[in-house]
Amino acid sequence: MILEDHLLYVDITQICGIGCAFCMYADKHETGSNMELSILARENLGRLINSPSVKRISISGEGEPLNNIKTFHEILGLSGGGKAFEFITSGFFPHDKMAEFYERTNRIAASQGDTCNIRLSTDSHHIERVKWRAHGFSINYLLTHRPSNLTFSFRSIDADRSFARDYLISELNDWGMQSTIEPRGALEDALVVGGTTFSIDYKNLVHPLPNTPAGYLDLYGYIEAIENKTKKRFTLGSMNKAPTANGMDVTVKPDGNVYFYGLENRSIGNIHSDELDWEALSNHVTCTPLVRNLYTQPLADVLDQLSDQHLVRSIVEKANNPYWLIKEIEHHKGLLAEIESL
Ligand code: SF4
Repeated sequence: MILEDHLLYVDITQICGIGCAFCMYADKHETGSNMELSILARENLGRLINSPSVKRISISGEGEPLNNIKTFHEILGLSGGGKAFEFITSGFFPHDKMAEFYERTNRIAASQGDTCNIRLSTDSHHIERVKWRAHGFSINYLLTHRPSNLTFSFRSIDADRSFARDYLISELNDWGMQSTIEPRGALEDALVVGGTTFSIDYKNLVHPLPNTPAGYLDLYGYIEAIENKTKKRFTLGSMNKAPTANGMDVTVKPDGNVYFYGLENRSIGNIHSDELDWEALSNHVTCTPLVRNLYTQPLADVLDQLSDQHLVRSIVEKANNPYWLIKEIEHHKGLLAEIESL
């Protein structure tokens, strides 16, 4: 089984005061904590980050990662160079603090020879909760300061793409910048400012409530859109465009527990107490039937083969994102056993 171009997510905090209505981690914010790096954690993350088989290191959280900048910058400092980092944020800081953050992040990335893409949440759920909006400010910062190793992009979970499109054009206009939107596919637009292009990617809202406006792709539509984008069938794990094989999609949680993304009821180690590398993780995929089957068989085919289609449909209606679907399936031992034996 070939696995290449892995994705490493590091969730560095559980702290967030923003309070988005749809938040999947709201229960953790009351008593949440920040990730602190032990000596062994640094060694493990250093090994995982510096493997040539990693395509991207995404820093995010079960909270807002700006609440733990110290650990983010420590993680950046573990790189031996040539790495692509990403920082997913609402960008809620006042603009002077945001500028300091960009300056420091660029300095560290440049000194290590890495890049860092700042991916700003650009949907109605986040925007309505954030006082200091970072979008126009950040593009203006990029165009006026030209940080050598930072890039910017946007993400949205709105069904109606017009929110992100109109919001960005109006925000940039307020900052004196003319911009246009170019549709690029079912899950992607481009924002063009002068000669510079910024991507906007659209994700499915995970748990649409009964009164959620129409327009979200259902799980099968979402899978189909990903398949059109990557030119191959969707399997769990990190999807790469054909002809590159898919990779592992590994998440490190704020307490150091490590999971395959989507399979977060099954810890595969902890960065503070175990020795971890990609080879050991790859062996885990090969030797664990549930993970192996989900990494090798198209998810739509897996769902079709399950005997209780009524149950499958009820789960699909609740979780229309493939990774959260698996979390739901974890509550149904019979379905899990069937997937394990495919
Ligand atoms: S910013 Fe992120 S972590 Fe905070 S409430 Fe919103 S979705 Fe949840």
